[in-house]
Amino acid sequence: MHNLWDAAEAAHYTDDLHQRVYTSRLLGREQALVLHGGGNTSVKSTVSNIFGEDEPILYVKGSGWDLATIEAAGFAPVRMQHLLRLAQLETLSDAAMARELKAATIDPSAPAPSVEAILHAILPYKFVDHTHADAVVAITNTPDGRAYVEDVYGDSIVIVPYIMPGFALARHCAEHFPREAHAGTIGMLLMNHGIFSFGATAHESYDRMIALVSRAEAYLQQRNAWHISLPPAAPITRPIRDELALLRSRVCAVAGFPLVMTTHDDERSLGFARHPDIRTLAQQGPLTPDHVIRTRRVPLIGRDVQGYRAAYEQYFAEHAPRSSQPLTMLDPAPRVILDAEFGLCVLGRHAQDAAIVYDIYSHTIENILRATALGGYRALDAASLFEVEYWDLEQAKLKRQGAPPEFAGEVALVTGAASGIGRACAETLLKRGAAVVGLDINPEIEHTFQQAGWLGVQCDITNEAALFETLEKAVRRFGGLDMLILNAGIFSSSRPIADLTLKEWQGVLDVNLNANVTLLREAYPLLKLAPRSGRVVVIGTRNVAAPGKGAAAYSVSKAALTQLARVATLEWSRDNIRVNMIHPDAVFDTAIWTDEVLQSRAAAYGMTVEAYKSRNLLRTEVSSYDVAAMAAAMCGSLFAKTTGAQVPLDGGNERVV
Ligand code: ZN
Repeated sequence: MHNLWDAAEAAHYTDDLHQRVYTSRLLGREQALVLHGGGNTSVKSTVSNIFGEDEPILYVKGSGWDLATIEAAGFAPVRMQHLLRLAQLETLSDAAMARELKAATIDPSAPAPSVEAILHAILPYKFVDHTHADAVVAITNTPDGRAYVEDVYGDSIVIVPYIMPGFALARHCAEHFPREAHAGTIGMLLMNHGIFSFGATAHESYDRMIALVSRAEAYLQQRNAWHISLPPAAPITRPIRDELALLRSRVCAVAGFPLVMTTHDDERSLGFARHPDIRTLAQQGPLTPDHVIRTRRVPLIGRDVQGYRAAYEQYFAEHAPRSSQPLTMLDPAPRVILDAEFGLCVLGRHAQDAAIVYDIYSHTIENILRATALGGYRALDAASLFEVEYWDLEQAKLKRQGAPPEFAGEVALVTGAASGIGRACAETLLKRGAAVVGLDINPEIEHTFQQAGWLGVQCDITNEAALFETLEKAVRRFGGLDMLILNAGIFSSSRPIADLTLKEWQGVLDVNLNANVTLLREAYPLLKLAPRSGRVVVIGTRNVAAPGKGAAAYSVSKAALTQLARVATLEWSRDNIRVNMIHPDAVFDTAIWTDEVLQSRAAAYGMTVEAYKSRNLLRTEVSSYDVAAMAAAMCGSLFAKTTGAQVPLDGGNERVV
């Protein structure tokens, strides 16, 4: 474990709180120490209150902040005296504790203090660092974990058996730590959970954390339990998009809502999924109890989603009666799937959630293998994990998130997404929670948006092989296809039929029409499996109803596309796939409308460019975002009972009305 302390950098952080920020970020930089919101840190300081009195304060990590990116505002300032008195109570429900912690902060705009705040307060050291270090949990999660830990650390640390985080753990430590600690104590280890270090300065506490974790790593190395190799595993090469989409649709059906599913077939993921003992190794439970919220207690091995559901329902039925209050079962769908052919599939309500599950499970794989090499992997018992999964504080956190966005867990594919209407559609769907695959001939498509829910693929849609490859990539990334926005189109040049070459004519038809035949055909099996039914939106043009001179190829291609979409409407209604069309006009903020095209189209109507731009009944310009909003509406509940509609979006046109 590398020590990242940099004296020059640290010198920029002058007071207690900022020193705390600095080393917290150092911890957060290392995934082998903390993952996605895991771990927490604190510093004890004093602040001058409104009466001019010095008041002892614990600055402790606020809920919702990540150590990697935490700022001073991410630490909740809590009155020390209140925390120490709470630690003396015989009992306190965790809900009451959370309320007390919030009430004891001196700043009402501060985040909710970490549930481990009382534990930080009772440790008699200025700086306290807490991580869920990989090496430490790899050692504790074994049948002889306690003996190994004593072997590694001797009496330099206090060892605490597993106790549910929250008040019970703080209460236990308040009683036992002072008895067991001595002048040489530099840390505290929580079995099956993680490790604490502390010190008089941020530097000392951080150094000790690195030293403690390094000792655990060295111990694993000495016992050949650090770098564990697996037999090489090659991914399957045949197309699997339909099989993946079927698996996702089954999981979504059990969940009761759509989820994004990302498939990883890197050598590690595949090697683990094909491990001969996978059923034993992967059915124990997570590395630390907090992972249960993201990964569920166990993954699904193979594809028997109904079997998983039954097992989850049984797990709930078995443990729920011990709860002091009635519990509502969470959805019984897996979030991690290990399949010998596919590798590792991770699921989340958003692509970002699936990415977090992947990070957590990759570390889980690594440390299950290490623990197995050391002496056998043993996670916490199901009852303890159930307690954390259904902990009222975690349930409250889920409730606070509110209703998910409109298209959460759904996947859209938009053609011609690097600019204009396509880009606006992609942006609008992303904002409404969908994962979006954007296709464009322009290589910039890959970087059009920077977020987990975006996959930009440079693709010539007239090339069938390239389209197949892109669909395969899309389904491996997001698990299926729920919405298809056929937008890509070209307008080659204004030319009367008398001058039209067959080559130009065919070029326009290839992009505007023929590519969409392939795309519709290939997308159909995926759309059929969409958890909330498939939707197709075709971006047509006002020219379909009201063609213009000199635009034969463009008008014909879009009219044929409209007719194609109408036939798809008829053929696919039995699969509940809805197909709707938008006929925009006067959308001048798109790549098609170069100055040249604008001038030539205005000339074709015998108008100036200005007059041409506002020649509709409402004398208005339509923007790409107006079209995108209509496309999103057609994918949403407003159009749930509409298929085969053709909606003009043109400011009103005398020849159309
Ligand atoms: Zn913890």
